[in-house]
Amino acid sequence: MMSTHLLPLTAPLLGLSTKALEALCVHHGEPAFRGRQIAEWVYRKGCRDFAAMTNLPKSLRETLSQQASVANLKEVVRQRAQDGTTKLLFELADGERVETVFLPYKDRTTVCLSSQAGCAVGCTFCATGYGGLQRNLSPGEIVEQVVYCGSLGKVSNVVFMGMGEPLLNYEAVLTAIHLLNEEVGLGMRSLTVSTVGIVPKIRQLAGERLQITLALSLHAPDDQLRRQLIPTQHRYSVQELVEACRDYVQQTRRRVTFEYVLLSEVNDSPAQARQLAALLRNLRCFVNLIPFNPIHNGSGFRRPGAEGIQRFRKELEEAGITVTQREEKGQGIDAACGQLRRRMASPE
Ligand code: SAH
Ligand code: SF4
Repeated sequence: MMSTHLLPLTAPLLGLSTKALEALCVHHGEPAFRGRQIAEWVYRKGCRDFAAMTNLPKSLRETLSQQASVANLKEVVRQRAQDGTTKLLFELADGERVETVFLPYKDRTTVCLSSQAGCAVGCTFCATGYGGLQRNLSPGEIVEQVVYCGSLGKVSNVVFMGMGEPLLNYEAVLTAIHLLNEEVGLGMRSLTVSTVGIVPKIRQLAGERLQITLALSLHAPDDQLRRQLIPTQHRYSVQELVEACRDYVQQTRRRVTFEYVLLSEVNDSPAQARQLAALLRNLRCFVNLIPFNPIHNGSGFRRPGAEGIQRFRKELEEAGITVTQREEKGQGIDAACGQLRRRMASPE
């Protein structure tokens, strides 16, 4: 029988691997397969309530209800756009808030998740960067954003493109990647980690030999401009970044994506497109153009018009670069990352 003391349980069960759940059960005098049953409920069925875990003995359900918890997140705001894009604002146990976006496309459904509350990097065009870093998220807090979105529709892809810099929360992000793969059942190839470019961590990630996609937020073809967009210590030189990506491609055999937020009259000239193309020559990569999303904080940046975007794109394509463009989703809701939380904190 389960001993009466399940505690100390420092964290909710969502965040523990099947193996850890099995060990927990065994430790409390239950058979190991109960751990597998709990994992099934928590990760594959999205169950947030022990009482509903009907294949567990009633006594175990009661003990768990009294002494443990499933979930880390509480939904506080939900915005849904016409196209089905849904933005969720979650509150964590300590009151911090993070955003998650559910994006249904024709051929896939993507969850854009947060890896930190806030961000220390402070890119000048990003709403998340303005408040600085509050704290790292735990693996459970990261993974639960995906599991929770399962109630909105079947999730096929995950991008670490919400709040925070994933490679500055490396261990938790790596654990979350493994949980998403092994517990939630998402293929490594459907996971994308987007980073501002923390070179030593890119190299460490390459060494993990995972089949995830690396997306590098470059935004500028030269160091002088990049320094204006990312004015903090978390910026590495363009040359170092491209080299780290080259090594990443070589080690993982995966193409790297370079993200480029287009800012009118800042980084969108044809000459800059040619400079970017030259930089990426002979590298197995894509460039993903992201038209700037205004963030209501007087950053002074503007999104280029459709023509300007097209011109930049054509210049890259003519130089032999494969270009993708972020599909515009979520019209009418606070689409830019960090924007919903900011607005809720200080209504504008
Ligand atoms: N910190 C990581 C991941 C989170 S940001 C990174 O910087 O890559 C995810 C992407 O959204 C980045 O490419 C970032 O540059 C972009 N982004 C941030 N603010 C934006 C805005 N206002 N408009 C458009 N893209 C933005
Ligand atoms: Fe942080 Fe990414 Fe925003 Fe830069 S763009 S402040 S790295 S979340």
